[in-house]
Amino acid sequence: MRKIIHLDMDCFFAAVEMRDNPAYQNMPIAVGGQGRRSVLCTCNYPARQFGVRSAMPNHQALQLCPTLIILPIRMQDYRDVSKKVFSILHRYTPLVEVVSIDEAYLDVTNCPLNGGSATYIANAIRHDIYQETQLTASAGVAPNKFLAKIASDENKPNGQFVITPETLHEFVRTLPLEKIPGVGKATIEKLHQLGLYTGQDAIDYGETALTARFGKFGQLIFERAQGIDNREIVLYRERKSIGVEKTLIENIIGFPDCWQTLKSLTPELQRRIAQKKAFNRIKKLGVKIKFADFTQTTVEQQAVGLDMGVFQALLEKGLARDRTQAVRLIGIHVGLETINQEQQLRLPLEQTTSE
Ligand SMILES: [Mg+2]
Repeated sequence: MRKIIHLDMDCFFAAVEMRDNPAYQNMPIAVGGQGRRSVLCTCNYPARQFGVRSAMPNHQALQLCPTLIILPIRMQDYRDVSKKVFSILHRYTPLVEVVSIDEAYLDVTNCPLNGGSATYIANAIRHDIYQETQLTASAGVAPNKFLAKIASDENKPNGQFVITPETLHEFVRTLPLEKIPGVGKATIEKLHQLGLYTGQDAIDYGETALTARFGKFGQLIFERAQGIDNREIVLYRERKSIGVEKTLIENIIGFPDCWQTLKSLTPELQRRIAQKKAFNRIKKLGVKIKFADFTQTTVEQQAVGLDMGVFQALLEKGLARDRTQAVRLIGIHVGLETINQEQQLRLPLEQTTSE
């Protein structure tokens, strides 16, 4: 059995605001856009007592809680805290899956720290996070991802919950089906209509009947109801190329026109490479040509930077592959050197969802 931890910061954006301005501690606050049509990113527990929730439109939240203070989003500050949190997680294992800015899965099956106990590891991580950021996190410990995710919610905020291989079956037997990630409002209504409320109900109903009713998702519900989830931790997926292409309004023919088009694409390519800070990772250049009959060809050559001479040679070579046809699309791209595993694991994805 694997040992998976789901770690989730408690009302993250709002928690950062309360930390930085203790006067907010006992007041209902939220973080979100400032326009009337904006929605809240997250809110603190005093606000939740009024029924305010994340993703709620501002005007609705203010109706429920007229004293609610909606603070502007300070994304750079949240990102800085997030980086610190993820650096703590990586002290325990390199197997960290970034779910969002404040949420991660860790596979600690082979982690030797804290006596190899996932429960103690989760405790230690939450302790470290509090010591170093003055923020609380909740954790779920389980033999797989979906159970760890459900578990992290059980004793929120500032708590943790453990599902062991021994308690797993009892836990899923009584598990309300709406707690299975992916089971939304529409699905749960259908399940309830069939008289299915718990994991045990789904098992009794049977795999064949569930699949007939819900397709592939029915099979997933059947698996989850038995506590099965074989999904691995997904590490940061690295970008291996960056490109720009343009479908022409009218087909063009001949090198000069194609070259003009290609040159017009380079500022955007440069911008995208700069955005990914990838200039020093360029290892090859490529040109893609799609002909009028939709056949396409790609030519590439090794290079250490953007080199218009190389692009020119590649375009000539590509066009030479079919001189009879007009061209309907031209694209250029760079192939990138992959960063080693150690480095890429230190790059949390930048997402903005928070709970
Ligand atoms: Mg959270």
